[in-house]
Amino acid sequence: MGSGFCKSSVDGNLKYGKFTENNLNNYSSGNGTSHHLISIGNTNNQPGLENKSDTEASPLEKTTQEDFQYDIVVIGGGSGGLACAKEAATFSARVACLDFVDPSPRGSVWGLGGTCVNVGCIPKKLMHTAALLKDKVKDSEKFGWLFENGSITGHDWKILRQSVQNYVSSLNWGYKKALKDKGVKYINAKATFIDKHTIEATKKNGNKEKITSKKFVLATGGRPTYPDFPGNEFCITSDDLFSLKKCPGKTLVIGGSYVALECAGFLAGLGLDVTIYIRSILLRGFDQQMAELIGAYMKNHGVKFRRPCIPKKVEQLKDGNLKVFAFSEDEEIIETFETVFVAVGRAPCTSNIGLEKANVRLQPKTGHVLVDNREQTNVESIYAIGDICYNKPELTPVAIQAGKMLARRLFANSKEVVDYDNVPTTVFAPLEYGCIGLAEEDAIVKFGEDDIEVYHQYFEPLEWTVAERDKKYCYAKLICQKSKNQKVVGLHITGPNAGEVTQGWTIGMRMGATKTDFEETLGIHPTCSEVFTTLYITKRSEKNPAVTGC
Ligand code: FAD
Ligand code: NDP
Repeated sequence: MGSGFCKSSVDGNLKYGKFTENNLNNYSSGNGTSHHLISIGNTNNQPGLENKSDTEASPLEKTTQEDFQYDIVVIGGGSGGLACAKEAATFSARVACLDFVDPSPRGSVWGLGGTCVNVGCIPKKLMHTAALLKDKVKDSEKFGWLFENGSITGHDWKILRQSVQNYVSSLNWGYKKALKDKGVKYINAKATFIDKHTIEATKKNGNKEKITSKKFVLATGGRPTYPDFPGNEFCITSDDLFSLKKCPGKTLVIGGSYVALECAGFLAGLGLDVTIYIRSILLRGFDQQMAELIGAYMKNHGVKFRRPCIPKKVEQLKDGNLKVFAFSEDEEIIETFETVFVAVGRAPCTSNIGLEKANVRLQPKTGHVLVDNREQTNVESIYAIGDICYNKPELTPVAIQAGKMLARRLFANSKEVVDYDNVPTTVFAPLEYGCIGLAEEDAIVKFGEDDIEVYHQYFEPLEWTVAERDKKYCYAKLICQKSKNQKVVGLHITGPNAGEVTQGWTIGMRMGATKTDFEETLGIHPTCSEVFTTLYITKRSEKNPAVTGC
């Protein structure tokens, strides 16, 4: 992963089969079941929205704060949008935040909070946790726990789904309350631009209102794309998985990156028969040695991989099962699954919301919004944050930071901008992988092989010793730039709690820590994270980095 952490889906992903970009981003207006508009801050003096006439001239020429209903309108109540709206409200700005969820092609809808809360990080991590628990319960036998007949009897998807959705609902409610506590009015509607200072807000019942604002923040996020093959309408995506009424059963996962590996991982961990079709490499953009470790671990834990494998067609059988036709190295493969889950990338929600009427410039190939380092689009009154921005990491903390900092710059004279270097991230696959900074292959390209030193070591987490788990998967490496006093430019770890480990080291990386700084840092024993304080084997030395004991 480059230190700028840039990923994008600049390829055929944006083409759809029966689902077109059009219908993915513009499900028929008024049919959505979850729409949200919140207005925040000092709204007492605003004219009633309901009284606004549809024929009223759009206030293109208006320039003073008093002429607009709002100082700022945030479109999108996800991670970035909520953070920006709440932060702006703390500076007494008149703020509105619109949020609206179009149903997925399979009809899934959800509440306030965006992708992360409803169909992203939160339900994913909870299901990942559920899957990990199985191994922990199993491990606990070795620690002396007893089970009836010595085995786990099964897993109930409905209980898990209900627990996860209950928690997500409590978060939806919590967001509404937090906004209200800050003086926010919540308006439940989908935004479409009429001009650069006016949007039309369409509510669930089809009622439309015009809303004017001095400034707008686009924070509409992204939605999953569908591969372009016949029968893609029978497939589900991450928009649907976490709220599926029934257990997905024998599942095919298509895709080889974050979403595919994480979801395939927890489904297999829950005991399902899972196959992944990978068309090329695992985790494009990430350190490939680490990506292969994750793949090997998953394979060893029951996930079946077909690679390279390109799906061509899905047919629904009479019994509801799905027959999948694919090609793997010129050989035709036909397999039957209960569920086909596609995770082939995400497209920004920037079409069919009138951005052309506001003259907002988009990246022509991907449809992402082009912004400068201050989240400013080419239109003075319109900003953009989060997943819809071109060449920015699609991660929740990035969207939140961008939203908060934007609000501070707009309303509190702040000059701070988001630092996109050393963005930490973790892939929550069954073997977690955390990283900060450069992949080894990127460091070689950037600095040349002679100028980098790679320190590495396999390690054995304490909790894996008694359980006698395999020693060949937990691995740590530091990539250092020799000519810069061995400044650490890449940190990578696979193992339990890699997210927690990686988060802790991020501040050191941001502050320019060198290999000596890592060595002089005292470890916490016994932890996985301490491995970074004791690395001494270089790849160049060709010494064996295998686990050595205590
Ligand atoms: P979103 O959270 O997508 O919010 C956009 C909101 O705007 C949505 O509610 C949408 O319905 C609404 N909207 C769209 N158009 C309109 C309109 N015209 N009018 C009104 N409202 C509109 N990131 C991590 O950091 N860690 C993880 O572990 C992680 N796991 C993930 C797992 C999955 C399966 C997925 C899909 C993503 C995951 N991500 C993770 C990425 C993370 O969820 C996103 O980066 C983050 O949610 C982006 O925030 P956002 O504010 O840009 O957009
Ligand atoms: P990505 O764009 O990261 O990866 C898409 C994957 O699908 C690639 O493996 C790609 O293969 C494959 N693919 C694309 N098109 C096709 C096709 N037509 N047929 C078969 N395979 C195809 O998308 P994701 O959905 O995995 O993730 C989106 C973003 O969400 C991530 O970049 C990340 O920022 C965020 N996220 C973060 C998480 C976290 O922080 N833990 C978790 C989940 C998501 P190829 O390499 O060949 O192009």
